[in-house]
Amino acid sequence: MAPHGTGSLFPTAEIARLRRDGTLAAPLPEHLGGAGLCAPDRVDALRRCLTRVGRDSLPVGRLYEGHVNALALVLRYADAETQARLAHDARDGHLFGVWNTEPGDGGLTLDAAGRLHGAKSFASGAGSVTRPLVTARMPDGRRLMLVMRLEPGTRADLSAWRAHGMRATATGTVAFSGLHVGDGAVIGAPDDYSRQPFFFAGAWRFLAVQVGGIEAVVETHRAHLKATGRGGDPHQQARFGQSLIALESSRLLVARAAALAAAETAASARIIAGVNLARAAVEQAGLDVIALAQRSVGLAGFLEDHPLEERMRDLATYLRQPAPDFALTGMAAHVLEAEEPLHDLWPEET
Ligand SMILES: Cc1cc2nc3c(=O)[nH]c(=O)nc-3n(C[C@H](O)[C@H](O)[C@H](O)COP(=O)(O)OP(=O)(O)OC[C@H]3O[C@@H](n4cnc5c(N)ncnc54)[C@H](O)[C@@H]3O)c2cc1C
Repeated sequence: MAPHGTGSLFPTAEIARLRRDGTLAAPLPEHLGGAGLCAPDRVDALRRCLTRVGRDSLPVGRLYEGHVNALALVLRYADAETQARLAHDARDGHLFGVWNTEPGDGGLTLDAAGRLHGAKSFASGAGSVTRPLVTARMPDGRRLMLVMRLEPGTRADLSAWRAHGMRATATGTVAFSGLHVGDGAVIGAPDDYSRQPFFFAGAWRFLAVQVGGIEAVVETHRAHLKATGRGGDPHQQARFGQSLIALESSRLLVARAAALAAAETAASARIIAGVNLARAAVEQAGLDVIALAQRSVGLAGFLEDHPLEERMRDLATYLRQPAPDFALTGMAAHVLEAEEPLHDLWPEET
């Protein structure tokens, strides 16, 4: 059964390829059949993997990032038996995701009898993610992580997902009312989901995907200049050069943020500030490369059959992440309060 309001946009073939080539299982440790990409010493491999998937397709990158995030939470907080069972599901090809965002009214609650009420909104892969990790509020107000077992095509409503970009992510509302929480669905302890620095610092993963989207726009910009023979013009060269600086400085900052988050050696607030610095820089870089490509390519880049058109829409949409002002000002406030010289805030060796 297709989810209500869905078209045929979901990237079924691309996700099937990730399933076949082992990318879906790769976050799992080797003893659970993966490539260990969630281990701290493999953070660079995970970062490059997220950027590569995002470069090929930003919607697929978003879906894969949700899958990785869910498995990372399971590996960090679930007991060994639950980890083994869910690892089996991942190896079996189930797509995971993290659905935390909820509508202003009707957010997900769990009653004392173990019944769910309410819905999740902005849920990527709605109708296709069959093992979503959701957060649900308990009667005492704390939030619990649950991995639910869903049948494909059920409980999803995509009718409101008429977005500017990222349409292929099938981001919709999923209703959970009436479902019982089964044995083994609970991951970790109440409020583990929002434990810091793992919660905020995990933003480095969506940044790695966004770097892939930025690279795709800059690559298209370059292809246009080569194809039209306009690359010799100094104005075009200057804009293209600015785009490259935005891309490569984003890549470096995200690599640093990923290393900082994985090492977990610095104080929590310092790790979060370092990741938030990368968040603000990547958001600005993404906006800049879009504007530069628009000016260099011109009207052709706005036509639906030009590759830049979809890549720009996808990137502009995916740059919208929670509370960007808070990320920037929180980082600035942290550094204003710190006593160390700037060069000691995020030393090279973490
Ligand atoms: C393609 C896509 C897929 C997604 N998939 C998922 C998913 O699978 N699961 C999931 O849980 N979520 C998902 N999301 C939702 C995502 O996690 C964020 O909730 C969403 O992107 C927030 O964007 P926003 O611009 O509405 O953010 P907001 O945080 O609402 O920010 C909008 C503006 O308001 C400002 N602002 C924020 N808070 C305040 C405040 N208190 N006072 C004043 N100003 C404020 C911000 O700085 C910003 O300027 C997805 C989002 C996208 C784009």
